[in-house]
Amino acid sequence: MIIVVMGPSGCGKTTVGRALATALAWPFVDADDLHDAAARAKMAAGVPLDDADRAPWLGRVCQRLTELAAAGPGVVLACSALRQRYRDTLRTAAREVHFVLLDADEATLSRRVAARRSHFMPATLVASQLATLERSPDLVSIDATLPVDEIVAQVRTRLGLGAGRGAIATVLVTGLRGTVGRALQARLSQDGVRVAGWDRSAVPIDRYDAMERFVAQTAPDAIVHLAIASSPTGRENEAWLVNYEWPSELAWIARQLGIRFVHASTAMVFSGSATGPFTVDSVPDATEGYGYEKRMAEQRVQYQNPHATIARLGWQIGEQPGSNNMIDFFDRETRAHGKVGASTRWWPACSFLDDTAEALGRLLGAAPGCYLLDSNARWTFFEIARAISACHDDRWKVVPTEKPAQDQRMIDPRVTMASLATRLPSLAR
Ligand code: ADP
Ligand code: MG
Repeated sequence: MIIVVMGPSGCGKTTVGRALATALAWPFVDADDLHDAAARAKMAAGVPLDDADRAPWLGRVCQRLTELAAAGPGVVLACSALRQRYRDTLRTAAREVHFVLLDADEATLSRRVAARRSHFMPATLVASQLATLERSPDLVSIDATLPVDEIVAQVRTRLGLGAGRGAIATVLVTGLRGTVGRALQARLSQDGVRVAGWDRSAVPIDRYDAMERFVAQTAPDAIVHLAIASSPTGRENEAWLVNYEWPSELAWIARQLGIRFVHASTAMVFSGSATGPFTVDSVPDATEGYGYEKRMAEQRVQYQNPHATIARLGWQIGEQPGSNNMIDFFDRETRAHGKVGASTRWWPACSFLDDTAEALGRLLGAAPGCYLLDSNARWTFFEIARAISACHDDRWKVVPTEKPAQDQRMIDPRVTMASLATRLPSLAR
């Protein structure tokens, strides 16, 4: 099934579309992301697109929808779809296509568009869009000024996508203050999901009864285990406790209480001598350190809870200093050596934090199993480091090195991860 969230600029297509996709655990496509540079420039200049501009774009949108609709239960598309003709084209993308019109008056739309910075659609286009909107009896029309969660609930009721089943209202996240935790919290909060964290000083992770009581009280619809032993408190075997025993108990608690469980793992379950690209069928082989602990934890989690979801993540590309992300690494290398040595023979598993967070959000509703979250389709660490530096006014001096030499990429066609090239345009060339 495809749900097209439609209407003029500012009606809330992107906001509501994302929230609906999260609630249903379906992939989300924003048609605006598929415009080419020429069309964006035209809109930014205040020139409405004509049919000749729109035809290739609509083709790309349909193709993307058809792919995603074939791969899962449904897709949410945000697309203005103002004319009947465009809707007729979108209808060809799948057997069942529904159109949800977010209905708002010109004043509301103008106010919202004006308040939105850094977007290629200027407020002057609102009036022209409203004039273009062709209403038809098949549209599921909803008041766009309602709160987002209320709109999502109405869409689900009116399309018979039973609100109770599969809905995610509260998610308990361990490691909420870590790199990925913060990004996931931002992502889920935007979608109207309540996020609860785990304070280890209040709820000790070596006391099963206390843990179970806490989870039962918090009553989450899902638990996402992101915590790792990154800031040791000095207790014995802490890494093993945090990386292995805690998720193992959590997996069991989640199973007992009927809560979904997502366990974040790592590309490091493959040793430095294993050769990728890895698929979901590749057998992890790390025999020491963090990779070993996480490999053992994966097995234990699956044993404790066959419904668990395991998400292997690569190196995260984010901005916060002091956390183990790629940009922080560049800064540290630069402080230590005045440059960043980056191997031309290493294809790292990596992704931008926001893309990881979005993929994790979608996994909340995915079938149990192991998923690989990697945005690196084909680039070496040297190429990636240079492209990131280029996006930051060449802030780092990136020099080629030969080590490590490893293809660490992870390929999983069941997960839609944005390619690195969407965030690092220089890679696409
Ligand atoms: P569109 O994608 O249709 O152009 P957006 O989703 O970008 O619209 O929303 C435009 C602005 O309106 C954003 O600032 C968004 O936060 C806000 N917004 C969207 N839906 C609602 C809503 N239901 N209530 C209040 N504000 C909303
Ligand atoms: Mg939008």
